Amino acid sequence: METYDALLAAIAPTSGETRTILDPATGQPVGQAPVHTVRDLEQAIAAAAAAQPEWAALGHDARSAALLKAADAVERSAEELARLLSREQGKPLNGPNARFEVGACAAWLRAAAATPLDPETVVDDGETRAELHYRPIGVVGAIGPWNWPMMITVWQLAPALRMGNAVVVKPSEYTPLSVLALVHVLNQELPDGLLTAVSGGRDVGEALAGHPGVGKIMFTGSTATGKAIIKSSAETVKRLTLELGGNDAGIVLPDADPKAIAEGLFWGAFINTGQTCAALKRLYVHDTLYDAVCAELATVAAAMPMGNGLDETNVLGPLQNRQQYDIVARLVDAARDSGARILLGGDPDPDRPGHFYPATLVADIENSNPLVTEEQFGPALPIIRYSTVDEAVAMANALDVGLGASVWSADPAAARTVAARLEAGTVWINKHGAVDPRIPFGGAKQSGYGLEFGAEGLKALGVPQIING
Ligand code: NAD
Repeated sequence: METYDALLAAIAPTSGETRTILDPATGQPVGQAPVHTVRDLEQAIAAAAAAQPEWAALGHDARSAALLKAADAVERSAEELARLLSREQGKPLNGPNARFEVGACAAWLRAAAATPLDPETVVDDGETRAELHYRPIGVVGAIGPWNWPMMITVWQLAPALRMGNAVVVKPSEYTPLSVLALVHVLNQELPDGLLTAVSGGRDVGEALAGHPGVGKIMFTGSTATGKAIIKSSAETVKRLTLELGGNDAGIVLPDADPKAIAEGLFWGAFINTGQTCAALKRLYVHDTLYDAVCAELATVAAAMPMGNGLDETNVLGPLQNRQQYDIVARLVDAARDSGARILLGGDPDPDRPGHFYPATLVADIENSNPLVTEEQFGPALPIIRYSTVDEAVAMANALDVGLGASVWSADPAAARTVAARLEAGTVWINKHGAVDPRIPFGGAKQSGYGLEFGAEGLKALGVPQIING
């Protein structure tokens, strides 16, 4: 275990260009990040390619054992990692935030180690015998976003390593320290060269996606970048798993109990201060309980403390960066100008340091409003009124993204009937955004393709091979 200062020192750049990372809550420096180049990327890919065959030859049991040790290493450094994550990303230590994210890293490493994946006999009729196996791909590139930087990196690298691949990680330019520190800790238990984080900009991401030595890209980020990666990976016919943007709808059915669902709705929308791919981003509420749901939600939201993440009382933090703050502010201002009613928030304090935008609820808003149709990725939830379930389903399905969705009802069977009509990769009932390492997760429509987690997630990190005979 290292102290917080030792952890920062271990990842501090020793040469080359550097960038000062600022705390989004205070504007104060958190640390120095290296600005790696495409040359650094080349070295990392070469090291990965050199280390991979021996790692693959270890077999599933030994690789799983190493992943379990890596999970232990994360737990040994959990508090230091959570503190760094909180300072760089902004999310509070407390609540479903930084400590929760570091805990998820250990949990997903353990799940990747424990999930069975045996060869499958597809035909065995006495004449023909065919088995389906999964061979390692080789070197996998992992490109990630800034909202859950550690957890998403583990989602990408844990199944890749388990399946016998080496990994080169390209973290977001906004949150490189969190990922560098995580990779540093994991490498206490992994062979040299097998896992490297290359902390460069978009040029490094592009080079990784186009590199002939890389067999697959695991990408989590915006739909626009996903499309760019499809293009840059085309020449080398790379395998891709794309977890892209979402604009998840939640539908509250007429029989729901507003008080009982209010807290679940709140965290579905405001987890990580709304900066979550599969957060509830537009809420459809039946006319008969619209006012009650708005009132209960406003009561819950108004009681949630927002502030510096290192203060244990806070459960909401700042936006991670000014660009995202500006997007949220623009969308809420436009909604207000269009005549929508601000139930809560919408009034950031211009004198407050940091990128704090208050938890905001917007009622009586048209379904065509940009706060509804664009991904806000922040703490501002539009609440839209509907009168028939058909109308709600049509509005929920109207966008070209479909990551998650949810249905809220006192009658789970009725909710499942509505769920089956929604065009989304996951539909939750009476909750939103809950992920589980045993349950496959992926998007529909332009929210991406490919599944993560569980046995399906492992298969996505292998090359299927049929042995016939
Ligand atoms: P982003 O697309 O801007 O950046 C993601 C990563 O891609 C960064 O590391 C960036 O450097 C890199 N990149 C940028 N251009 C590239 C290119 N041309 N080639 C290769 N790499 C490139 O996304 P972001 O703003 O960091 O993240 C927010 C978005 O991510 C939101 O839309 C959110 O919904 C989505 N997201 C999706 C999931 C999911 O599981 N579906 C999870 C988290 C976030």
